[in-house]
Amino acid sequence: MAEQDAVPFLDLRAVQLRQRETLHAALDRVLDSGWYILGPETSDFEAEFADFCGARHAVGVASGLDALVLALRACGVGPGDEVLVPSHTFIATWLAVTQVGARPVPVEPRPACATLDPDRLAEALTPRTRAVLPVHLYGQPADLDPILAFARRHGLRVIEDAAQAHGARYQGRRIGAHGDAVAWSFYPGKNLGALGDGGAVTTDNPDVAERLRLLRNYGSRVKYHHEEAGLNSRLDEVQAAFLRTKLPLLEADNRRRRAIAATYLAGLADCPRLTLPTVRAGVEPVWHLFVLRHPQRDALAARLAKRGIHTVIHYPVAPHRQPAYASLGLATGSLPIAEALQDQVLSLPIGPTMDDTQVQRVIAALQDCA
Ligand SMILES: *Cc1c(COP(=O)(O)O)cnc(C)c1O
Repeated sequence: MAEQDAVPFLDLRAVQLRQRETLHAALDRVLDSGWYILGPETSDFEAEFADFCGARHAVGVASGLDALVLALRACGVGPGDEVLVPSHTFIATWLAVTQVGARPVPVEPRPACATLDPDRLAEALTPRTRAVLPVHLYGQPADLDPILAFARRHGLRVIEDAAQAHGARYQGRRIGAHGDAVAWSFYPGKNLGALGDGGAVTTDNPDVAERLRLLRNYGSRVKYHHEEAGLNSRLDEVQAAFLRTKLPLLEADNRRRRAIAATYLAGLADCPRLTLPTVRAGVEPVWHLFVLRHPQRDALAARLAKRGIHTVIHYPVAPHRQPAYASLGLATGSLPIAEALQDQVLSLPIGPTMDDTQVQRVIAALQDCA
């Protein structure tokens, strides 16, 4: 098959080039302003993003990982604490917990929707548990109501990892302020992506917001006066200006992702060896990823690649199996659901600029190959 017929996993260049002129104008605005860090673009983006999420406050930071780290610190999580995290997630969720000196305690997901199973929280609880960190994985909100109820019962904080869920809804309300703090990433490939690194934390709690503003800026409210040992983790003006240019497209982009997902779900329903993603009642996912399962995943991915269909695995090695976390002593076999998912999941091409012909080519290839 000719290379121009290949279906890329995500055509990020095409995503950006739709806005070439307005992105250039945004860059010019920053150049002309003479203000490059913590200026008007950042505060305007924070207000616009908070409004979009239905949260009272948004605080721009340098990345999604930093958003998680700062959200944990702003909620008082630190050394000696335990944080309940999904066993199946991108490693940043766990890294944030270890960066603040706390211990990640994995909780298995519900295999059907791949998000944290609230019924398994109780068995992971200890006197040191301080917080729960659900992830809205693949763009589908975790089941927040039972998680929030559990946290209230046991005096825990809830920090959400929303790096894949810009615009997703839980019980009709956008993700952004259900828990104590919600961490966002604007890594270029996310549903709302900058042209570099960026992140934010949203919250309804003014004390958490205040603490985040201190922590991201050297722990300083007044220049050269430092109330605590903070970080340099600021969303810069150029990325904020780009994000302000891109935010107005997010709803339409998410609609396109939903349409592609609906076409995949209908077109692949008859492939007996595929397990398709399921959407729980009461949630509206934004399909950051379309992830199916197959018992011979690697062979399937190879057959698809031969036909020019590019797929990715999210994620091939669960965090507890990574050398980085060997010291936690979580043996192979200790988290069987996460381990089965790592061997079976496969992400199909999806993105706002993918056209109907490409979607049909993916479906036809899977009907032949799966
Ligand atoms: C992308 C991502 C992050 C980290 O975001 P960065 O901006 O890359 O630091 C955290 N959690 C999840 C689930 C992600 O997908």
